[in-house]
Order: sequence, then structure tokens, then C-alpha cells
Amino acid sequence: MEAALDLGDTAADALAAVDVQVLSRVQLAAGVVRVQQLIDRFTLAHSRLVTAADQAGVWRDAGCRDMADWITNATKTSYGTACGLVALGETVNAAPEVARAVVAGELSAASAATLHDAVTRAPADADVGSLVDAVKGAKPKAARQAAERWKELNTPTAESEEEREDRRYQRRSVRTAPPVDGMATTTVTLPVLQSRQFINALNAVAGKPYEGDTRTTEQRLADGLTLLCDAFAKGEVKGGRERPTVLLVFDAAAYTGATDTPARTANGDRIPACVARLLAENAHLQRVLQAGSRILDLGVTVRLASEDQYRALVVRDGGCRWPGCEIPAAWCEADHLVPFPAGPSALDNLVLWCSHHHHEKHRPGVHVFGDAHSLRLVLANGTTIDCTTRPAQAAA
Ligand SMILES: [Zn+2]
Repeated sequence: MEAALDLGDTAADALAAVDVQVLSRVQLAAGVVRVQQLIDRFTLAHSRLVTAADQAGVWRDAGCRDMADWITNATKTSYGTACGLVALGETVNAAPEVARAVVAGELSAASAATLHDAVTRAPADADVGSLVDAVKGAKPKAARQAAERWKELNTPTAESEEEREDRRYQRRSVRTAPPVDGMATTTVTLPVLQSRQFINALNAVAGKPYEGDTRTTEQRLADGLTLLCDAFAKGEVKGGRERPTVLLVFDAAAYTGATDTPARTANGDRIPACVARLLAENAHLQRVLQAGSRILDLGVTVRLASEDQYRALVVRDGGCRWPGCEIPAAWCEADHLVPFPAGPSALDNLVLWCSHHHHEKHRPGVHVFGDAHSLRLVLANGTTIDCTTRPAQAAA
């Protein structure tokens, strides 16, 4: 190791000593490309060290939350750069063919790191070589897209629609980067449907552009978000049950669970059937009878849980039924303990959850015992929780 590092020093010194002023344009161009390839090979070697150090647990005694955090502290690089190194190390550890492509100059280190999720979650019999072939010469963005497509094709079929949706849902996040020049960038990552709701809500709060409005759409949405947060701070945001914001078209057979045909938003997004059924519990529902492109009949708009039932739930449950959750009733959703259509739309079968705990209750491996009056959940990890009502809050 020491000898290898000394050689690295020698190489860096030799490169630094090159008189760049005397080089021709051809030599300069070749030099720029060649040094980048060398840096990529060093990055590759670096990432192998990082993976080994991670596995050896060097960060555990240092009070760091993970390997990338430790690298950030020890080397003063950015957390994003450190995460990229960790990802690259895990990628080549899982797929040596990725390392070979980097060494051969066919794949940049940056592009290789984008393959992380695809190769580390690939089933044992997946053909990683076909992925590496597909991304040779690709820039990181194109490589990431190719990896996404490859991952969809190679996701184990044992994974159900619910499990796949749950895996996506676990990637939701709101991240704020450190401010630059007085501005901070916050990145919001949401499932496509919540993302539509988010933008629709900002659009509605911001209002239509007025005549002579010089703001870009992005600026107007930013103003909408600021308005919404101000309204919340003033106590003027009261829960959103009265305002459906996304139109979903869903097959009757998929609605009752007979098929898993995805629903579609007005924007053409495909929403998995299991998600659409979950949403239907709190949506306005309208029957549309179609023959080809002709609409034969439009039913009246109804709710699975009626307004009266919802008000009764607000009084009885007082808020989210998850133990210790403080989300008030106005922000909660009605849930059918035994899903529609098998379970009745009766108060004994209805409880309130906040959005997060509604998702938690529907996660794979969660079992429901009792009815709305004696509700108990057994979670996937075996923990049993009692979900009692919160009448004190309801009274308040
Ligand atoms: Zn909750």
C-alpha cells in the first residue's frame, strides 16, 4: 500500500512538472482526456478502499452516521462526492465488469456510480454484462436512465406490485443543500402522484398569471409555496378533504381488485392499481360508462366514506390512530380496515390515519386485528401496537 501511494505521488509530481506551454493543441486535447481516464482509475481504486473501510467499520467509533459522513469529516470533501465514492465502491464490488469497463476507458467513474441501484439490487441471475454494454460511452444522465430501464426489466418477479410501490415510497425525501449566495436549493422527491398533487396545490395557491405577469412558471410556483407556508404559520391551513386535486381514471375491474390494470392521471402518469385503490378510499368517485371513445353514462359523484361518516370519525378517533402520532383529524384520511369491496363502508370498519401511517398500515407484512373499536396491528417486524382512539383531542 505505501509503495503504491508513493508511486501515485511520483505520477502526480511528474504530471505537475509537464511544461504545458510547449504542447500542441493535439497533445493538449489528448492530455486532458488521458488524465481524466487516469483520475477515473484512481477514483475506482479509491472506491475499493472506501468499501473495504466501510466493511471494516472505520466510521463506527468516530461518531459518524455512515461511511460517506466519515469521508466528509476526514477529507473535507462534500457529502455528495463522498456518497458517489461509496456508491461506486458498492457498484464494482457487486459487478466486477463495471470496474473492467472503467479501467478500459469505456465508462467514466461518474457514469459507473449511477449503476449502483441497478446492480446492487439485481437478482443473482441478472445479466449485468448487458447493462455495462448498454451504457459504454454514455454520460451519467444517459447511463442513469439506461440503468432505470434495465432495473425495471430485471426486477425479480417475486416482488409484488405492493412491494415495488413500497420500495419506491421509501425513497421519498425533502433535502435542502447548504445556501449559495443567499439561496438554498431544496429537492423534493415524491411518488409521481404526490408530486402532481404538490405542483397542483402550489399552482392553485399561486393563482393564474395576471396580465403583464413577468414571472416564470417556476417563480410563480415558488411564490405559491411561500404563500402556503405563510398561511400555515398564520393557522389558516385547515386540512384538505374538500379539495381533490388530481383526476384519476381507473378500470372498474381494477378498482374491485379483479385485475391490476394501472390507473392514469390526466397527465398520462401510470399509477399502480394498489395505490389507486388506496386513494379511492378518500376520493370523490364517479362512474363513467364508455363504449370505445363514446361516454354512455356518467354516474353521480360519491365517496366511499360519506361526509357524515367522516365527521363521526373525527369525533371518535380525534386524529391519527397510530400510537403517539399527533397529526390532527383534519389532516387525516379515512381507511377501510378490511379493504373495499370485501370490507363494508361502515364505521366499525373505518379509522383515521395520517398519510404516513396510512402507508405504514398498508405496508407488506402488516396484519390488522380487531375492528375500529379494538384495533391492533402486528407490524412486519413482529411488533404489536394498540391503536386506540384519542377522545381527549376529539373533545378539544
Ligand atoms: Zn399518524
